[in-house]
Amino acid sequence: MVNDYRIQGDTGEWEVVIGLEVHAQVVSNAKLFSGAATAFGAEPNTQVSLVDAAMPGMLPVPNRECIRQAVRTGMAIDAKINRWSRFDRKNYFYADLPQGYQISQLYHPLVGEGAVTVLLDEKDEGSARTIGVERIHVEQDAGKLMHDQHPTMSYVDLNRSGVALMEIVSRPDMRSPGEAGAYLRKLRAILRYVGSCDGNMEEGSMRADVNVSVRRVGGPGEKEAELGTRTETKNVNSVRFVMAVIEHEARRQVELIEEGGAVAQETRLFDPDKGVTRTLRSKEDAHDYRYFPDPDLLPLELEDEFLAACRASLPELPDAKRKRYEGLGITAYNAAVLTADVESANYFDNLLDGLQRPEFAPDAANWVISELFGMLNRTGRDISKSPISVRQAAELLSLIADGTISKTIAKQVSELMLDENSGHFGDDPTRIVETRGLKQTSDTGQIDARIDEILAANTDKVAQYKAGKEALFGFFVGQTMKAMAGKANPAVLNERLRAKLAA
Ligand code: ADP
Ligand code: MG
Repeated sequence: MVNDYRIQGDTGEWEVVIGLEVHAQVVSNAKLFSGAATAFGAEPNTQVSLVDAAMPGMLPVPNRECIRQAVRTGMAIDAKINRWSRFDRKNYFYADLPQGYQISQLYHPLVGEGAVTVLLDEKDEGSARTIGVERIHVEQDAGKLMHDQHPTMSYVDLNRSGVALMEIVSRPDMRSPGEAGAYLRKLRAILRYVGSCDGNMEEGSMRADVNVSVRRVGGPGEKEAELGTRTETKNVNSVRFVMAVIEHEARRQVELIEEGGAVAQETRLFDPDKGVTRTLRSKEDAHDYRYFPDPDLLPLELEDEFLAACRASLPELPDAKRKRYEGLGITAYNAAVLTADVESANYFDNLLDGLQRPEFAPDAANWVISELFGMLNRTGRDISKSPISVRQAAELLSLIADGTISKTIAKQVSELMLDENSGHFGDDPTRIVETRGLKQTSDTGQIDARIDEILAANTDKVAQYKAGKEALFGFFVGQTMKAMAGKANPAVLNERLRAKLAA
């Protein structure tokens, strides 16, 4: 089980303790303290204001939208929102930081304690774990150095300089790579539902600093002072890599301690090609950065009205949506899959709206997950680019619900809609059903005739059935359905077959 993750050392069993600091780029058209644009992939240095380039005499002005997004994020993880917060300068020198300091929040962050609940096993409510979030503060991102543009020089791109980040700091509450992975995925889902960060880890809009320590199983308590010494691996940019860092780092620390050494509190870097971490620098403390309140900025004070508007703008969040889906009779697993990402959840919600048959929700969920997701996966498509639109999906499912086509035929129809060479790519299901003559029939004359043929061709099985082997009923249904190319109304077919076998 993921929740009993242990490392077997030479001298006994070890437990892993993990805390994540997630940097999430705020969705906003402008930077944290300037009006410059934030679009990804723009030409270097085309989105840089005088503030971002740290020209002397320029003053930062907080962007309301960035603050709003961070507050909404805090609310989404049930965190305490601090009505009074303040910006501090974190001083260090680096070529990608023209100001010579980063404006951040150390002493009085915007968002205080909150929590994220994850399911370690999607089918099992009992596997829920609550991971504490210590704080969320807002800060500026730095620029980017480019070392591959010139043989002897490095270039600086300041497009990212000053972009708003939320730093979401977890408590050291995670105990396995799986749990850390589940936390990151859940956090990303929440951010994407809220719309405060696009969660795109490849583009760097979400990255994690991974803090790992180890301690003997059955050791001292859970207080931070009683945990082992941690290392921090910086800027890990995928869930898979975060899990790899934890596994590698935990094993390295166990071996080090068992050989009589000690873990140094240090900052490390992950090498994805080799799957190892290495020392970057020894860990610096807050005093190394000479933090002090930024004299160019007033404290932030949030008004009731602003807070109320933030709260009112929150969407239905993943856990609430999952429970609602379960309430519609959808299985726990399906509800978890559908709500895992905002795009699939929106697709499904719109599908339910279009369908207007809540009682059909469990079937709709099955169809979306096994048929639609299955085919999107096979063709490497994203749900946002699904060739079957929500309206078409609702139409297809209505055709099943009102008995026009069977599920088997529906499967054929969706395959036609998703196959670029079928001649029906992107067509409406009703049209496909009509042009291909796929309507289901309840015509008892036709169904009876097929049943008679099947029973006549299988007299031995009929005898076995009558002698008590009732499981054969399914065989007769299958054969008749096959003979009718899947177009018999299943209810009528069942009823006629039963009558004939009883005769
Ligand atoms: P710093 O800026 O010095 O890294 P932060 O308070 O920003 O300090 O972050 C500390 C992070 O490290 C938190 O996510 C916390 O949960 C985690 N952490 C603290 N102590 C340990 C430990 N002993 N083992 C693993 N993680 C830890
Ligand atoms: Mg840190």
